[in-house]
Formats: sequence, structure tokens, C-alpha cells
Amino acid sequence: MCGIVGYVGAQDAAPILIEGLNRLEYRGYDSAGIAVIQRGQLKVRKVSGRVADLQADLPARFKGAPGIGHTRWATHGEPTVDNAHPHVDSAGRIAVVHNGIIENAEELRAKLQADGVEFTSQTDTETVAHLVAAAFRTGGAEDLEQAVRYALRQVVGAYGIAVVDTEHPDRIVVARNGSPVLLGIGEKEMFVASDVAALVGHTRQVVYLDDGELATITAGGYRTFTLDARSTAKTPSEVDWDVVGAEVGDHAHFLVKEIAEQPRSIERALRGRLDERFNTAHLGGLNLTVREAREFRRVKILGCGSACYAGDLGAQLIEDLARMPATSESASEFRYRNPVVEPDTLYVAVSQSGETVDTLAAVQELQRKGGRVIGIVNVVGSTIARQVDGGIYIHAGPEMSVAATKSFTSTVVAFALLAVHLGRMRDLAPTEGRRILDGLVALPGQIEQILDDEKRTGTIEAVAREIAQRPSVLFIGRRRGWPVAKEGAQKFKEVSYVHAEAYASAELKHGPLALVSPELPTVACVPDDDLHEKNVSTLAEIRARKGPVVALAHRELSAELADRTIVIPQSEPELDPILMSVPLQLLAYHAAVALERDVDRPRNLAKSVTVE
Ligand code: GLU
Repeated sequence: MCGIVGYVGAQDAAPILIEGLNRLEYRGYDSAGIAVIQRGQLKVRKVSGRVADLQADLPARFKGAPGIGHTRWATHGEPTVDNAHPHVDSAGRIAVVHNGIIENAEELRAKLQADGVEFTSQTDTETVAHLVAAAFRTGGAEDLEQAVRYALRQVVGAYGIAVVDTEHPDRIVVARNGSPVLLGIGEKEMFVASDVAALVGHTRQVVYLDDGELATITAGGYRTFTLDARSTAKTPSEVDWDVVGAEVGDHAHFLVKEIAEQPRSIERALRGRLDERFNTAHLGGLNLTVREAREFRRVKILGCGSACYAGDLGAQLIEDLARMPATSESASEFRYRNPVVEPDTLYVAVSQSGETVDTLAAVQELQRKGGRVIGIVNVVGSTIARQVDGGIYIHAGPEMSVAATKSFTSTVVAFALLAVHLGRMRDLAPTEGRRILDGLVALPGQIEQILDDEKRTGTIEAVAREIAQRPSVLFIGRRRGWPVAKEGAQKFKEVSYVHAEAYASAELKHGPLALVSPELPTVACVPDDDLHEKNVSTLAEIRARKGPVVALAHRELSAELADRTIVIPQSEPELDPILMSVPLQLLAYHAAVALERDVDRPRNLAKSVTVE
């Protein structure tokens, strides 16, 4: 999950590496480090802590290129300076940064130690630096490519790596197996990164490596090849992200910036996809003929975390509008339970980054069993996007905060489009298709209204300050409100560290009602729909036990039912969850700020979960 960045060219590498690491820090932030080659010598600087600490620690004389940098999410060994990357061989010749896990590290370490190699860290990664050095010493390697291939042939596990060598100071050799690596093509300079966000300030021309592929990059260009030295052919792709999307600008945090971006990100998700003539959605990337799409009888959605909750809403949209049985499941569970894969089920994999390793493994398991899988993904060209048989890009732009916001709402929008698309091939009437499309088009304006109302009244911030002081918070909802509650609770706990739990409203009386007391606030979704009375009864049950209630509703509720109502605009009932999610994002944000949490980088977490 860590971030990797590298630079080769005529400029000094350090400032470029630091800038790249700052953009990648959301991927992991236990420790950080960089290495550059300065007049034939390796210079390494590492800190336990943040990229900002590394930057502050960097002497002005830290010059030279090529260079590699890393921000870590520790898997092997504590986040200390010694365990921070880059790792260097005993002679100080080779430096390596690595994303992933070397599974046979213990065995390799024992072998190297038996040969007299001394280790300075507890990481699995250090073995790679020593193996590359050994390739020159005893493996007969003559150039860095050969040496890296020699080393990687002994390695079992997942890696994205970048290697520099003082004896070959014109190049970086990189390799990918299970962890993303991409090359950025500049003007007489080249970049490498684990993530396109690191490159947006420099180039839009990128080359994605595939598993089992290596590349040598020099200022003049790149060459890609396999572990057995066969050349591979790659075509560069164009990245459509810009620098503005990857910078925090005037906002205090990325999280609040990305919440505010939702009117625009939803517009982008809809752009070019509304078919006014036939009242359906145009989704060319699905790669499904009408005949194929009609043959599916069920839909199964897979994702992790917020992607899974967006999938819950997607399943309801598809059942409601296309009348196909649809369910959503955690990809991490699905992959391990030897799932029954059916030819008439359409599988949908959801991942913002397109790198979520559990979701990728589920996709591969499905494809191995002949399942047809489409993706709903944000990052163009990412691993899942390339692995699936077709899909929908949500085009939300870079999401830099660890907690998902705009990717969540845009994913639900993508599901609404898919549901209309599948529905209109079946029994969804043109007027019904039209109703949903009109509802989707109205969403950006309605989200603006929620954001403006909050700016004016500060209601959500005030509620957040109050409930942030409680030890625990309950989130409840019925039907479409239930995934909204799940996502609301997850957002709240991950950024505020206050315990939060979500329940389907009707489940309260089967257990959790025992917790309700004046100490436990409940945040309840109470839309003005056909289940309004049922939801009101649940609130009455809570109030009878003196539980404080914050309601999310389309009109102010009476003081008997709720202490506070957050009033939001009404959409089509199927789309209400999208609007309901926005105040819950703000609630989590303001609670985290009130508690002085590290809003964009919550403890123990990382964006883009590329390890199991
Ligand atoms: N396994 C390596 C370590 O623990 C790399 C972790 C990462 O991907 O950041 O240092």
C-alpha cells in the first residue's frame, strides 16, 4: 500500500521525489525516505514519521539523480528509521524501495546471512537489496537489469520495486508483480510511481506495467521486458487528472475539499451517458451486446469497505429498476469461500483505486471460473480496470483523503446508470427511465444546496461537536437508508476514532436496543417515503428509552421524535441515499476536526489497500 516514486533526468531528484511522496502519502505514512545518486555515491535520508519530517530533515546539499523515494505502510517490522525504505546493500551500492510483501523473506534472509550478509532492518524488503548486490558479486550479472532479474527470480510474493545502482547511475530498474508500478514519460526525463497521483505535476503520458514485467528507465526513454529477458511492447496512455485535483488548495483538508467537489464529480460521472431519446443510460465501456446483457438473470456486486456499501445501494437500485435479483458482498470474504459462479450472473467489482487486492483476487477467482465481470472504478488504467471484461469509470478525479466521499457517491450514480441501462432492456418504462435520469441530473444542484445550508446554519457541525464527545454512536436506517447508515458509521469511526455502529432500524429490537440510553446518540435516516411511519415508530422506541436522536429527514421532525433534524432536499426515492450520504460525510468530518484527528490520514489506515 506504500507509495513509490522515482526520477531520472537532468534535474535534482530530491524536490521531485518529495513532491511525489507528498501526493502519495495517503497510501501509507508510517515512515518515509529517499535515496539519490550524487557523483557516484548513494545518499540516503529516512525518517520515522511523515514526508513533511523528511522534507524538514533534508540538507540543502542533498543533490543528484537518479533518485527513488518511499512512504511506508509497515508489514514487516515497526515503523522505525532503520525499517524505513530505501534499503541499501552492505556495500552501499544498491538502493531499493518496495511496495508489497516478500513471502519467502525469512528463508532468503537465512541464506544471505549464511553467506555473511549483515542485515540492518527487520523488513522483508532488505533481502532484495542484498540479492541484487549478490547478483553482481556471485551471480555473474553485468548490468542492473540482469541483477534485478536474478534477484526477483528468487523472490516469492507481491512487489512493486524500484532499484538504483551507483555503478549504473543513468538508470532506475523497476518491476511489478501484484503491486502497481507505472512509468511517466517526460521531456528528456522519466518518472516512476506506484500511483498516477505522484506524476500529475509532471506528465500525462504514462505506461502501466503488467504483472511479471520489468522496465529500465533512463532520461532518454524506457524499455520493458520480462523476468526471462524477453522484450515487451507497451503503448503509453494519457492521464486525464490535473494538478488542481491532487492539491488541497484553500481547503483545510482533502476530506472537506472532496465532499465539496461532489456536485462536479457527479456531473462528470453523468457526462455523455444520458440517452435522452430512449430514456436510458449509454454505457459503452461495458462491452456487452444487448443480447448478452439481457441473458443475465442476476447481479452480484463485490467490493470492500465503502465500495461494498455503495454496492449495497447498487443492488437495491438494480432490483428496483431492472427487477433482477442483486446482492452485494464483501470481496474479501467472497474470494475465500469457493464461490459458486454462474454463467447467467453479471458480476460487478467496485474499487476506487482499482488496486484493492481483495477485490482483484475476487475478480480473478470469478474469471478463472468463467464469470463475466465488469468494474466500477475511479482510477483509469488501474489493475482492476484492466483485468475486468468491461466497466464504468466514475471519473471522480483524484481522491486524496483516505476516507472515501466523492468516489462513494459517484459509484452509486454509476450503479443508477447501470440499473436504468439494464432496466430499459427489460421492463422499465421509458417514463420511469426518464424519472431517474432527471433525478440524477438534479443531484449536483441539490448537493450544492446541502453544502450551502450547512455554511449558513452550521447545524451539522454543531451536532458533530456534541456527539463527538460520546463514547459511541448508533446509525440506523431502513431499506435504502440501511447502507447509508453503514457508510455513515464507517466514515464516522474511521476519521473520528469514536465507536460507531450501524443497524437496520427493524433490527434494533432484536438486540441493540439494550444499548439505548441518554448516553448513546442515534443518527437515523428518516426519508419522506412509504416507510416513513415505520421509521417514526423506531424513533419512538428510542425516545421511550430516553435515547438522543439526530434525524436525517426531508422535513423537520417534532421535538418528541428528534433532538435535531438535519433537513435535506428530496430526490427520487431510489436516489435519496446519495443525498443522505453527504450530511453524514460532513458529520464525520466535523467530529474528526473537533477531536483534532489527522483527518486525511486516520491512524492505522491507508488508501488503496494493496495487501491482504
Ligand atoms: N513489506 C514492506 C515493509 O514492511 C513494504 C510495505 C509497504 O508496502 O509499504 O517495509
